[in-house]
Amino acid sequence: MRIKSKLALGLAFLFCMIITLVVLSIFYVNRVSNDTDVILKDNYITLRYCNDLLADLDRLSGDTSVMAHFDEILTKQEGNITEPGEGEATRRLRYHFEEIKKKPADTTFYDDARRDIFTINQLNQEAIYQKNLKAQQTAKTATSWLSFIGAVLALLAFSFLLNFPGIIANPIKTLSEGIKEISNKNYSQRIHFRSGDEFGDLAEAFNQMASQLERYEHSNLAKIIFEKKRIDTIINNLTDPIIGLDEKKYILFANEAASRVLSINESELIGKYAPDVAINNDLLRNLLRTDGSVTPLKIFADNKESYFSKEMVKITADEKPIGEVIMLKNVTSFKELDLAKTNFIATISHELKTPISSIKMSLKLLEDARVGKLNEEQKKLVAHIDDDSQRLLKITTELLDLAQVETGKIQLERESVDPRSIAGYAFEALRVQAEQKQISIVIQQEADLPKVSCDLDKTVWVMVNLLSNAIHYSPEKSSVFIQLKKQDHSVLFSVKDSGKGIDQQYKDKVFEKFFRVPERNAGRNGTGMGLAISKEFVTAQGGRIWLETEPGKGSTFSFSLPV
Ligand code: ADP
Repeated sequence: MRIKSKLALGLAFLFCMIITLVVLSIFYVNRVSNDTDVILKDNYITLRYCNDLLADLDRLSGDTSVMAHFDEILTKQEGNITEPGEGEATRRLRYHFEEIKKKPADTTFYDDARRDIFTINQLNQEAIYQKNLKAQQTAKTATSWLSFIGAVLALLAFSFLLNFPGIIANPIKTLSEGIKEISNKNYSQRIHFRSGDEFGDLAEAFNQMASQLERYEHSNLAKIIFEKKRIDTIINNLTDPIIGLDEKKYILFANEAASRVLSINESELIGKYAPDVAINNDLLRNLLRTDGSVTPLKIFADNKESYFSKEMVKITADEKPIGEVIMLKNVTSFKELDLAKTNFIATISHELKTPISSIKMSLKLLEDARVGKLNEEQKKLVAHIDDDSQRLLKITTELLDLAQVETGKIQLERESVDPRSIAGYAFEALRVQAEQKQISIVIQQEADLPKVSCDLDKTVWVMVNLLSNAIHYSPEKSSVFIQLKKQDHSVLFSVKDSGKGIDQQYKDKVFEKFFRVPERNAGRNGTGMGLAISKEFVTAQGGRIWLETEPGKGSTFSFSLPV
């Protein structure tokens, strides 16, 4: 049954009971009031007539007005005969009164008349008593009936009161609990109301919704699992090693190539905390390092020594970091080509050095007056040739240096050197160049600088290269600072200028071979090798070189060497 009908029926039943109670109450109150009315109308009035008649009877003898009054009351009594025997007594009283009227002085009928009045009085008193009994009986019956019906109604109302809130509230509670479960993604939740009412409909709609959501969830899950499989397959089929970490550095995935180069089973990688795995794996430790190093890693893979370039990609979602992917690219073939090129450059530059030197020698001879006097035009031409051959010699020397450091043929002659002497040599070498631009070179050095262990020539070469760049890229009449500072177990050498600075995107690139910042080198015949050679020289000596710069505010190139 529907809740609406249940409610209507329940209320209709209560309504009927109330109406019954009201009708019954009215009926019984009416009956009791009728009973008392009858007593009043039928008997009480007669009793009053009897009293009046008795009073008049004692004064009948001489007074005609009393006689008339007696007659009047008796006539009224004749019109109010209600009890059995009352009519007989009243007729007798009339007869005796008529006799008294004829002879008022004769007292023989007075006693008869008095007896008649008493009889009437008696009859009515008896009737009052009986009717009173009857009224009491009616009131008792009414009280019983009304109490019974009232009790039944109270019981019904009480049970209604106990059950009705539950009828409404219980399904609502079950429903809200079900909705809570759904919001917690427990889509298997169902509601069962056996009733065919509105709550039954609601439960059915709820169950439909839950099963739709469950189906949707399952199909989504299947889709997600399928997509994951697809991505896993793609990652596994990649020939380059790839490792995915979550934001807490737990390994999410690692493909076969990665487990091959790391020499660790996939099962020992996935789900593990990467720094823990790295404790016993040098290569992984290297891969997890975030020092921005761009030098290819030498890894023994595919039964030979291979080179891999590392790329670390930070993954973010909604601007929050959610992990990172480490990708390795096999660059062995490029490295091999690079080596071939370096060897080629080394051979060429070595071969070029001899003819350039002989050109320079010939120039020296040409300048000698004993060979023949040169006119002004010839002198200018010889000077040009001298400049160019000087440049050629510089380039070939740099190329040779670079080739040597790249092929690992660098020869270091380590000695204990005072850092101030390195700065001093560089200062002397570039003093004239600085004076031409009216640039002052300021050396700032801490007292008690420890000696560093390095190859003096190569370190001076680095310092000269940095200072030469600083002078070149500084505006005229500015200052260039050479700073020497002690740091834990090393000495820090910095060259600071107030030139244009270098764009952030080129910060690391300037140390790469042949790289030159676009458009800034107009008028400078550089090769882009200086900083690359400097880096090789410094790192070969166990040091580090880096750049701090801000466009428009100058650059500071620094390197450190171990004490
Ligand atoms: P180059 O022979 O071109 O000077 P380097 O390797 O010494 O080669 O420098 C590489 C590039 O870095 C230069 O071409 C120049 O663009 C930039 N660079 C080097 N030093 C400075 C500096 N102090 N200020 C601005 N740019 C510089």
